[in-house]
Amino acid sequence: MPPTTIRFYCDICKKTVSVALPEDFCNDFKKSADKWPYPLVYPHEGHYAIVYLDEDMKERGVNVSRMVFKEN
Ligand SMILES: [Zn+2]
Repeated sequence: MPPTTIRFYCDICKKTVSVALPEDFCNDFKKSADKWPYPLVYPHEGHYAIVYLDEDMKERGVNVSRMVFKEN
């Protein structure tokens, strides 16, 4: 199977971002999801996109953030 490519618009970098998701990743994502659409966190260029994907790995909404909090 070829990778599944998702595309979304990032309001921080003002670009349409394409991400190729390997089949193994898509299978893990579908196993992890306990509801649809389910969020995928995609860090890039120092910020984060939260991309909501449905069971067909289609984009159903996007949020972006510059902030993540990590406990020490
Ligand atoms: Zn971005």
